[in-house]
Amino acid sequence: MLGEFDPRLDARFDAYDRETLTARLRTVLPADGLLSAPEALRVYECDGLAAYRSLPGLVALPRTTEEVREVLMACKAMGVPVVARGAGTGLSGGALPFPGCVLLSLSRLAAILAIDPDARTARVQPGVRNLAVSEAAGPFGLFYAPDPSSQAACSIGGNVAENAGGVHCLKYGLTVNNIAALEVVTLDGEILHLGGEALDAPGFDLLALMTGSEGLLGVITEVTVRLLPQPAHARALLAAFAAVGDGGRAVAAIIADGVIPAGLEMMDNLAIVAAEQYCGAGYPTDAAAILLCELDGEEADVASELARVADICRAAGASDVRLARDEAERQRFWAGRKAAFPAMGRMAPDYYCIDGTIPRARLPEVLDEIARLSISHGLPVANVFHAGDGNLHPLILYDARREGELDRAEGLGGAILELCVRAGGTITGEHGVGREKINQMCVQFSPQEIDAFAAIKAAFDPTGLLNPGKAIPTLARCAEFGAMHVHRGAVAFAHLDRL
Ligand SMILES: Cc1cc2nc3c(=O)[nH]c(=O)nc-3n(C[C@H](O)[C@H](O)[C@H](O)COP(=O)(O)OP(=O)(O)OC[C@H]3O[C@@H](n4cnc5c(N)ncnc54)[C@H](O)[C@@H]3O)c2cc1C
Repeated sequence: MLGEFDPRLDARFDAYDRETLTARLRTVLPADGLLSAPEALRVYECDGLAAYRSLPGLVALPRTTEEVREVLMACKAMGVPVVARGAGTGLSGGALPFPGCVLLSLSRLAAILAIDPDARTARVQPGVRNLAVSEAAGPFGLFYAPDPSSQAACSIGGNVAENAGGVHCLKYGLTVNNIAALEVVTLDGEILHLGGEALDAPGFDLLALMTGSEGLLGVITEVTVRLLPQPAHARALLAAFAAVGDGGRAVAAIIADGVIPAGLEMMDNLAIVAAEQYCGAGYPTDAAAILLCELDGEEADVASELARVADICRAAGASDVRLARDEAERQRFWAGRKAAFPAMGRMAPDYYCIDGTIPRARLPEVLDEIARLSISHGLPVANVFHAGDGNLHPLILYDARREGELDRAEGLGGAILELCVRAGGTITGEHGVGREKINQMCVQFSPQEIDAFAAIKAAFDPTGLLNPGKAIPTLARCAEFGAMHVHRGAVAFAHLDRL
């Protein structure tokens, strides 16, 4: 199974003296800040990709940057792997513990330190929930734009580490476009201050490098986020289509027309039915696909753009176009979309969420091919995704209790990601590589590019103790996976061992 770590990696880290480390950590953490009982460790055995599980050796729960620093320095001194964890909602196994590691939970660094309405920024600790930032900024007429569907639970630190996206990111940008500064602690215990209030900082853009670094380069202990004024008006439209491909064509046509919606999301029939049964969003359950489009801004602009979007959807073949009549109906439209993942629990005991991106214009053909792959692998796939960004989230439905179904789900997931790469896209839009997509990195990148990633990792963490076995494959792994780039028939790195 993909979730398992490479035994050669285990061998790189010497077995450490757990008692000595425990004694050292107890001197730097509060009395309840270190967990070692098996039942307490069990809570941290996986993230949102629950098919992959492994136990940490210890869980550290620091409350301050200084305590984070002490934990990292102790692990470095004793050669112990460390895995940072925010809220554990990640979907790529990024916070999956390396067996026996110290799991460094940032959940107790959860204070909103300052909101500056004039500078339109908020300074927060990494364990603050995404939604809590907009709730705190609301009284100032401000909000934090990146809004993952998990925003009620996921942490800002985890958002930065994954460069999280969300419905509003089409218009307002991803996490990387909405943060101003970071405080990061390296494995050596150095505290870095990256970015600042100025629009651009001199030197290499380490703020951007740290964003999306998946806990491999350092531990984020403070984040300054940019806040935006709440839009004066927001209205939503729902368009229903009898064919999924027509919905895909409408998406490409809306963007080509120059409209930039605040959200442009698509759901196919399986997702529509699940969401409707789950929360009664008012979706047409006979549609093959629906598009949800939100426009925000000044009232007159919103009205004219809505009319344009409605016309484009009808021209693309929409059988029904509905404007939310009031704020309550707009909220209902979005409640169905935000509930689509949990709603899958009504359809199958387990689901596996894939996260690839493709150029928008390729949506119809890629969705058709996913439907064919679903049939050939014998597992249903529901599609609910950020259509405006071309960011697909096929949800593969399976039952882990049935022999071989998880393996089949993994095989289908890999085939979908490789389809995204062939279509000119990428193997992850927002959920990160983590443990899950490490093989597909070999498909996406050349050995030279993977080497460059490894060199950056080594510059921050030469020991490889921070989140080992994630995001950057070794070239030997790529060789075994059989997915190395072949240049003019010449196999690269022919000297590497293949199994
Ligand atoms: C129902 C559901 C819907 C989702 N919808 C979206 C969506 O719309 N958009 C989206 O982008 N994602 C989505 N996700 C995925 C997930 O919520 C995001 O990836 C989120 O950013 C993870 O945050 P977290 O706090 O849970 O991080 P975790 O899962 O705890 O960790 C994620 C990664 O970040 C690292 N990390 C965490 N905190 C730190 C830190 N302080 N310093 C350094 N590294 C750190 C971890 O080591 C790990 O590699 C969804 C997940 C679920 C379950």
